[in-house]
Amino acid sequence: MKKRYIFDLDGTLMRGGFSGTTDQYLLDRLGEDVRPVLGNMKEYLGRYERYYRRYTDEDLSRFLSLSTNLSFTPEMIREWDELVTAVPNTLEEGVFETLETLKERDKDLVVLTNWFTESQRKRLENEGLLPYFSAVYGGDISTKPHKEAYWIASGEFAPDECVFIGDNVDFDYIGPKSCGFDSILYDKNDVHHKSIVKVKRLNEITKMYER
Ligand SMILES: [Mg+2]
Repeated sequence: MKKRYIFDLDGTLMRGGFSGTTDQYLLDRLGEDVRPVLGNMKEYLGRYERYYRRYTDEDLSRFLSLSTNLSFTPEMIREWDELVTAVPNTLEEGVFETLETLKERDKDLVVLTNWFTESQRKRLENEGLLPYFSAVYGGDISTKPHKEAYWIASGEFAPDECVFIGDNVDFDYIGPKSCGFDSILYDKNDVHHKSIVKVKRLNEITKMYER
């Protein structure tokens, strides 16, 4: 029986984070040269997450500076991260219903996300989702796809009591599986191979295991 449900945040519970506001901050600080970087920021961060085991302002500023030839400082990373929390989010369909159903069944719900813990907690709070979760594990604790991140997020629960849910095949599906956990891909556009355990709607996960 599953006791702990471990959710990814961005693209799984909600969409938001980077926006015109956060982009404008970097444009003001770094000038027009940063514009091509903004369009590829997710790829830069994905690369960072594969090579570094956790997020720190210092490591991220150094990595982005070396990758882009622009001067990202740790202070800029901090201010940029704080702006992320002010951006309005769009909740994925069925989020409240899904979390409510799992809570009624006394499941333990946590978030495992690669961005900074405090700003992700704030974003969950802004959308009224924070009370559902007993913990939020961010990238400043450990980044996916490093095995340590999955083990930390499983807490005191046995591997077969946990299930990971997320929208990224490598980070949320293959990563936990390679550690022996069950995982479910949230694939709302149904683009991934049918051999993958996946759902198109979040609330389908409430029907997948015995209660
Ligand atoms: Mg995601």
